[in-house]
Amino acid sequence: MAEQPRKLLAGNWKMNGLTADLAEIAAIRDVVAAWPRRFADVVVCVPATLLAPAAQLCAGSPVAVGGQDCHAKPCGAHTGDIAAEMLKDAGAAYVITGHSERRTDHGETDWVVRDKTAAGFRAGLNVILCVGETEAERAAGAALLKVGTQLAESLPKEVPVGRLSIAYEPVWAIGTGHTPTPRDVGEMHDFIRDELYSRLGADSAGIRLLYGGSVKPANAAELLTIRNVDGALVGGASLKAAEFLAIGSVYAA
Ligand code: PEP
Repeated sequence: MAEQPRKLLAGNWKMNGLTADLAEIAAIRDVVAAWPRRFADVVVCVPATLLAPAAQLCAGSPVAVGGQDCHAKPCGAHTGDIAAEMLKDAGAAYVITGHSERRTDHGETDWVVRDKTAAGFRAGLNVILCVGETEAERAAGAALLKVGTQLAESLPKEVPVGRLSIAYEPVWAIGTGHTPTPRDVGEMHDFIRDELYSRLGADSAGIRLLYGGSVKPANAAELLTIRNVDGALVGGASLKAAEFLAIGSVYAA
C-alpha cells in the first residue's frame, strides 16, 4: 500500500502584512519548533514583499514560506509579475496556484493555472493547486463536475506527486465563516482522491489533499480529521500566530 502523505498546514496571508507583521512569522516559527511531536509540515504563504525577510527568519526552522501566485514564464516583459524562479530565489519553498481570488480578480482560466502550476514545478517549488465550486454550482448539484473539470484541465502533464497538494476550497466558504458539512467535505476529498488515482495511478497517493475555507480553531479538529483530508489551507486565521497555531495544534502533541 502506498505511504500516506505527511499532513500540511498552510497559511495564506493574501494581500495582508507589512514588515511589522513578521513578528507573527517569528512566533509561528518558535512555537512550531517547540512542538514535541509534529505531524504536519507548516508553510506560510506571504505577500511577495515579505518573502525574503520571512524566509530569513525561518531559515533552519521547520516552518517554510511560500508565494501566492507566479507567472508561467521564467522571465521576460511582464511588468508587475513574478516568476516561480524569483519566488524560489527569495527563499520560497511553496507557491499557491489557482486560488479562487486569482481566478475571479485576474480571470485566470484552468489552462493559465495549469501553466503556472507547471512553472512552480519547473522552479523546484511545492505547489498548492486550488480548486472549488461556487455556491450556485453546489446548489445546482454540479460541485463534483466543476472540481473534476478543474482538476482535469489545470494539472500539467508532468506531475512530481510529492510536490503537489490540491486544496479543495469551496468559493462560498472562503472568508465567509460558512463551511460545508463534514459529509460534503469527505465526499469531495474522496472524489478528488479517485480522480487523481485514475489519472496518475498508485503514485497519486503521495498528493496531499487540503481543505480550505473558513478553517478556524473551533472547527479545525472536525474538518482536519475527515478521511482524505491531509491538511488545511488557512486564510484569515493564519494572520495571527495564536489562531494559526491553535489550528495547527491538531497536528502537534
Ligand atoms: C484562503 O484564502 O485560501 C482561505 C481559505 O481563506 P479563509 O480561511 O479566510 O476562508
